[in-house]
Order: sequence, then C-alpha cells, then structure tokens
Amino acid sequence: MALEEYKRKRDFTKTPEPEGKVAAKQEERFFCVQKHLASHLHYDFRLEHNGVLLSWAVPKGPSLDPKTKRLAMKVEDHPVAYGEFEGVIPEGYGAGIVMLWDRGTWTPEVDDVDAALKKGDLKFTLNGYKLKGSWVLVRTGGRYAGARGGGDRSWLLIKHRDEWAGDVDIVEFAPLSVKSKGDFEDILAEDTPAVWQSNRPAKGGDAGAMLATIIERAAALKSARSTKDAKDTKDTKAAKETKVTNSTKKAVGRVAASKAVKRATQSPRKPQRKK
Ligand code: MN
Repeated sequence: MALEEYKRKRDFTKTPEPEGKVAAKQEERFFCVQKHLASHLHYDFRLEHNGVLLSWAVPKGPSLDPKTKRLAMKVEDHPVAYGEFEGVIPEGYGAGIVMLWDRGTWTPEVDDVDAALKKGDLKFTLNGYKLKGSWVLVRTGGRYAGARGGGDRSWLLIKHRDEWAGDVDIVEFAPLSVKSKGDFEDILAEDTPAVWQSNRPAKGGDAGAMLATIIERAAALKSARSTKDAKDTKDTKAAKETKVTNSTKKAVGRVAASKAVKRATQSPRKPQRKK
C-alpha cells in the first residue's frame, strides 16, 4: 500500500499537510482519531499498518456503546506523519480545520491484518486517551449504498462489550484536542490571519454555519489574547496597543468579510441530516 491517492488529491505547495513518506515497519502501532471540520464535521479514524495509516471517515464519531454501530467510510491511506497533524487546511481537498481528538496505540486481535481487512472483519484493541479496549471494524458489503462512496467502502465501527464500554457519549463528553487541549477556534486562533483569509471552508450546511461561528470566536479569542499581551508589557504598551488594534481590526475585518460568515448570516440553512 502506497500513498498515490493521498498525493493525487493534494497540492503540497498549497496545503500545510505533510507530503508523506511510507514509513518503515515497526512493532509499535500508532492510531489516532482526527476531528475534521470540512464540508461536514467527521472523525477520521486511522490505524497504522504496513507503514501507512489505514483511514476511515466516521461521520458521527466513535461510540462506546456496543449497541451503537457507527458508519465508517474507508478513505485513502494517509502518511504516518499525518497522524500528529493538527491545524488548518487552507484550501483544496479536505479544506477546513483538523483537531487531534485522540491518539495512542493499537494491537490487532488477529494474526493476519491483511487477511482480516480483505475479509472485512478486523478486531483490535485500542489504548488511547479516550478510546480503549476491544473494537471491531466490519465491512457492510454495500448495505449503506446511499452513503458517500457507497459500495465496499462502507464499514461499521463497533465497540465490543468490555470494561471500557459504556453509555457516555464520548464525542460530547470529551470534545477537545489531546494535543493542544483546545477546541477548533483555539486551533484557528493560533494561525495567522493570512491563513484565515485563504481558508476556503465548508460548503454551507451545518459545518458551514459552525465554521462561521468558530471564525468569529477565534477572532474574539485572538483579540483578547493580543490585548492581554499588550497590557503585560508596560514599557511598550502604547506602541503595542496601536499595532494590536490595527492588526486585530484587519483580521476581524477579513473574517467578517469571509464567505463563510456571509453565508451563515445571510442565508441560514436547515441542518443537513445524514441518510
Ligand atoms: Mn477527513
């Protein structure tokens, strides 16, 4: 398994995502879940195998309840280095914000992972911050044909009954990053206004409205931080405040003028429901 599809979909002169090399085989297997606010909010579930990250997009995120089977669409393999990525994808494929929602190690509960994948039934144990214990990914054989990609790309992510199962809604209970401890707006606020400006985010719908709100909150956070920084340094206070005010004004202006904000304020849309 190489990374042809991953590379084909991206222009590495324009995206901050890693270009990606196929990593050497190693004993310790990495896993992560990246919460991805793109055209739709989803959770990218990734398991390291054969030097790449096998990847599934899980629209509703993982559930700790064994009765709740979560649709997981198989997507292209990603480079192992991508697993630590958190930040803004300004444009192109997957444009939006990526949060490292969980990470840790995984252990197959089968001898032959390739055979299990081929069969469409992979049992494994997770040891992350949020996700632990025994899980299974089962291919549905196209029973969810209406879903994006359809066909044999549809899998289900299911928690096995064990001490780590439960009815806590983990995506609601633990929504923040395991890397920065922050939310989407904190990740966005760390980036320069230039990144916001070139950001071509969601195409409307729930995620579009959510992103617009996040951009506003990020601008407010950034503004509050800048003001605090300026107050902390008394000797350059006046100079800094002038600079901060100007740059913040510019940033907020750009954000307010962004298509996402206009879309959200001018034409509120009905929530899009997954079928
Ligand atoms: Mn994604």
